[in-house]
Amino acid sequence: MNPQQIQQLTKQYPIVKTLIELKETIWFNPDFTTLEEGLPYVGLNQADIHDARDRLARFAPYLMTAFPETAANNGIIESELVSIPKMQQQLEAQYRQKIEGTLWLKKDSHLPISGSIKARGGIYEVLYFAEKLALDAGLLTLQDDYAKLNTSEFKKFFSQYSIAVGSTGNLGLSIGIMSAQLGFNVTVHMSADARQWKKDKLRAHGVTVIEYAEDYGVAVEAGRKTALTNPNCYFIDDENSKNLFLGYAVAGERLKQQLQQRDIQVDQEHPLFVYLPCGVGGGPGGVAFGLKMAFGDHVHCFFAEPTHSPCMLLGIATGLHDQISVQEIGIDNITDADGLAVGRASGFVGRAMQHLLDGLYTLDDQTLYQLLGLLNRTEALQLEPSALAGMLGPVLICKHSEYAAMHHFTAQQLQNAHHIVWGTGGGMVPQEEMANYLAKAAIAN
Ligand SMILES: *Cc1c(COP(=O)(O)O)cnc(C)c1O
Repeated sequence: MNPQQIQQLTKQYPIVKTLIELKETIWFNPDFTTLEEGLPYVGLNQADIHDARDRLARFAPYLMTAFPETAANNGIIESELVSIPKMQQQLEAQYRQKIEGTLWLKKDSHLPISGSIKARGGIYEVLYFAEKLALDAGLLTLQDDYAKLNTSEFKKFFSQYSIAVGSTGNLGLSIGIMSAQLGFNVTVHMSADARQWKKDKLRAHGVTVIEYAEDYGVAVEAGRKTALTNPNCYFIDDENSKNLFLGYAVAGERLKQQLQQRDIQVDQEHPLFVYLPCGVGGGPGGVAFGLKMAFGDHVHCFFAEPTHSPCMLLGIATGLHDQISVQEIGIDNITDADGLAVGRASGFVGRAMQHLLDGLYTLDDQTLYQLLGLLNRTEALQLEPSALAGMLGPVLICKHSEYAAMHHFTAQQLQNAHHIVWGTGGGMVPQEEMANYLAKAAIAN
């Protein structure tokens, strides 16, 4: 984009100017509709989510044997929902803003196998591919006990195939560990942001890691190209994959069950607010889709991005989706939130969610570190910087009362609200690395 085009864009969409200035901001989606009106843009439905849910259930006996840490939950990879009242108080004090309702943390940070939200979509798509190969080869039926996949016979069968993926770290970790365990040859194309420990861990699992000096978009493109040269190679396309999206979407019904177990209602009188850190969009997009399908219009979904990587906000606000990158408007895409260091959003997710997403906001790395420190101090919970992006959401929603006004919420409804911050990663961060994060948090506070 030349300076004139950028000027034109900022004139038409003033939010773009705020993004270029790297200011923390919140944007409420003016094209927001009901689920009924917005759903056709997604192009997927409840039956697709149930298909994914059932596939994960078929694989549960396999996961229990291949990854014993999943046995406690019978091979279902799901995270805890915990209330964080001390953090809620601390946020109120820090930002001088009352947070109406109850604050929760969804601990995807501690999901088994790979310690991030990618243990949903990433693992699901590998299982999808493995099942298809085994069914097509006549080695498996849908009625079988899938534990049999954890045998040398199956590993030998899968070793004829390869899987490739581009990643800033966590998706590579999920797909790498899962694919290697099944017996696939797996290559992860890692962007410059990826942390060293993630690469080391993958190599220890026998995964081929190719490193790039450039960002996520370049790593994905390189992965896509090399995969094309090998007909036995399946490329997991984080920018476009419906399978990944559906793997994430299963979270909606699961969360509904967790809330029901606690006698927590979600309805007109008890709205639910969910805050999701966003990189390329597949994770938060899939989860938000699942949430809308589970709770209808009573759930309000917000995405959070670093001020230096606001790709989804840029794409949705301008309607340009993947036709524009943050770099094209002079933003550097450099952030310590490595899981969110994406300059160009998924066009598929942006278009799918353009009417169902309630809003997006941005925050500085400095704020991420502050929140990281606060959560550690108040609740003794340690997450990686990306995973804290959702934590500012409840403060912002309560502060920007125009949102409540837009939905005609009464004081009572706001008091009944539940706010869920999706804690997307950090459970496997090595101690030394976490000590560094906490040191930066101490400076930021
Ligand atoms: C990948 C990731 C996200 C965002 O998921 P996308 O699908 O890239 O939008 C958020 N937080 C963490 C820790 C991640 O690894």
